[in-house]
Amino acid sequence: MTEAADDLVLVINSGSSSIKYQLLNPESGAVTASGMVDRIGEGNAGIEHQSDGETTERRGAIADHTAGLRLIFDMFAETGHDLANAGVRAVGHRVVHGGEVFYQPTLIDDAVVAAIADLSSLAPLHNPANVAGIESARKLLPEVPQVAVFDTAFFHGLPDAAKTYAIDAKVAAAHGIRKYGFHGTSHEYVSGQAAKLLGRDPAELNQIVFHLGNGASASAIRGGHPIDTTMGLTPLEGLVMGTRSGDIDPGIIAHLMRSAHLDIDQIDTLLNRDSGLKGLSGVNDFRELQRLIENGDTAAKLAYDVYIHRLRRYLGAYLIDLGGVDAITFTAGVGENSPQVRADALADLSRFGIEIDPAANTAKSRTARHISPPNAEVAILVVPTNEELAIARAAHRVAETA
Ligand code: ADP
Repeated sequence: MTEAADDLVLVINSGSSSIKYQLLNPESGAVTASGMVDRIGEGNAGIEHQSDGETTERRGAIADHTAGLRLIFDMFAETGHDLANAGVRAVGHRVVHGGEVFYQPTLIDDAVVAAIADLSSLAPLHNPANVAGIESARKLLPEVPQVAVFDTAFFHGLPDAAKTYAIDAKVAAAHGIRKYGFHGTSHEYVSGQAAKLLGRDPAELNQIVFHLGNGASASAIRGGHPIDTTMGLTPLEGLVMGTRSGDIDPGIIAHLMRSAHLDIDQIDTLLNRDSGLKGLSGVNDFRELQRLIENGDTAAKLAYDVYIHRLRRYLGAYLIDLGGVDAITFTAGVGENSPQVRADALADLSRFGIEIDPAANTAKSRTARHISPPNAEVAILVVPTNEELAIARAAHRVAETA
């Protein structure tokens, strides 16, 4: 491999039944290889691996995360990038929940792994998967520094009034109940890129970022620091998502237990996997939703209207929280690719200085760009997120000082 190989970072994002990965250069962002193992624990699991412009796919049973990671390493070796000899400088792990404990990218040792495992009650699907990924990677690359980058970290310093739920304070304290916020790596990266695009110091800017993917969240950022975000103790709160409800009346839970005799796991599944766009329309993928709407499907149209209504509610809240905004930025699958969502989210707000240039909004582009008219009071931006690059950079930084 080339001399740049010395400075590659392997980024690992372990979900409950999947592992996404990327081997990349943290400076240039150039990706050597990437892929995903999915359906871990099911019969029809598999891997899709991309390197040197080729995609390799295998299907078959993958028992657990250790087997999944081993398969990833085999795939690298088979495609000419043996990770043991590729000069991997660091492994960066996306960890969903850092609780109160972790708010910086952290060099992993046994105590850090134990602490991440301890936080599993706050993220029962995610943190155990993250721990499994970390433990396997440490075994496979024992000489390489491993760094945990937390999805909650950016929001650690939220103001008390924004992070406190108005429930019995003793109960909240005993169970770690507060707003933590998620997608922090994306909100931090995207707001930084937005400031760069504007040629401004982030310290001078009031920003609102909408991360609209399968999961979705918004944040209000003043001077580079978030003052509120839509996700909470868990990633369930806030915006309407692919399969998650976002905000609901908490009384619905007790009502469902009493009236529908659902137990708490069934309700958890209902709200996390069978709600949101999917619950309302039957589909969670935004492109499918748009196709249904084009075909006159009224349930899909209602799902879309609820989605936009919720977005605009938070836009209004954050405009007031910030006392005015300099930039509103859209990112992630829907935010980057749906001009319709951007137009509807910001429609009829010219009295607040918020306006979209229709031609710029619909122009096809994959790069960070303005979609507001020149000299607009509020800059409206589309900025592609790149969580892998942000994790790689953080991991590399920590490894350099290790
Ligand atoms: P995640 O990382 O949370 O899984 P992504 O950021 O990849 O999600 O976003 C996935 C969502 O983006 C899906 O709902 C998908 O339909 C939507 N999406 C992707 N491309 C487009 C497009 N061209 N128009 C509208 N939605 C799109």
